[in-house]
Amino acid sequence: MRVRAIALTALLLCVPGWAHAEQTLIKPTDDYCATPDSTADLAKKPVPDLKLVLSSKDLQFCSYSGEGLSEINKSWAKKNEILAYPAQLEFKDTVELIQAYSRIKSKFDVKFATIPNAMAVLARKANIIDRYVLYNKKYLCGIQNYTGSKWADDSVFAHEVGHHLANHTLSAGSRPYFELQADWFSGFILQRMGAPVDGATIVLGKMLEHQYRSGNAETLTSRTHPQPEDRIAAVAEGWSYACEQDPKCDL
Ligand SMILES: [Zn+2]
Repeated sequence: MRVRAIALTALLLCVPGWAHAEQTLIKPTDDYCATPDSTADLAKKPVPDLKLVLSSKDLQFCSYSGEGLSEINKSWAKKNEILAYPAQLEFKDTVELIQAYSRIKSKFDVKFATIPNAMAVLARKANIIDRYVLYNKKYLCGIQNYTGSKWADDSVFAHEVGHHLANHTLSAGSRPYFELQADWFSGFILQRMGAPVDGATIVLGKMLEHQYRSGNAETLTSRTHPQPEDRIAAVAEGWSYACEQDPKCDL
């Protein structure tokens, strides 16, 4: 884990001005979850501005909870295709804020889409590569309500941004090692944003709690994603690493 942390942090710290950059950044409010849910948003915007074919060899993605093609197809009527719409401004702002804290300028578009939760996507078309962070607003607002934490959506978005910044989407599918790196990045960035460690780990913690409570503990590990306990540890390690560099942070 420490090797992974050093590798990713070396990338983050090579940008001048990192240490003080976060002081002027302000997290947007989370009031947008009071606005209509994703179904209403879809109804208001019936014409997607992007369609992605899920089974295409030119499309690679990492989903937040490890869903593959079959799980994504089960969630939506439109099989084998992701429909994407312009992002709500507030979500776009949140992703831009995470990028600003990372101090790495990377080009990707944020879109509201017909997916189960959140996803980092890379789409190739001839010689052009497009990168996206896709999200389901209903899921993000749902986890905010479920966890009672304003950091829930940030931790999910930071995980997806981490996939892009570490170029994980250049390889097909989600993999445990990549997932732990993205979780580490999420913890690192959330500390920079001012989140307490339990805010950074809240979503994964609740996911674990829910799975144990529902008797699915034995199915916690998927082919692509590690045990939630390991993911929580990776987030906490990223958070601690950032805290060690922050004179105002107490471990
Ligand atoms: Zn992931």
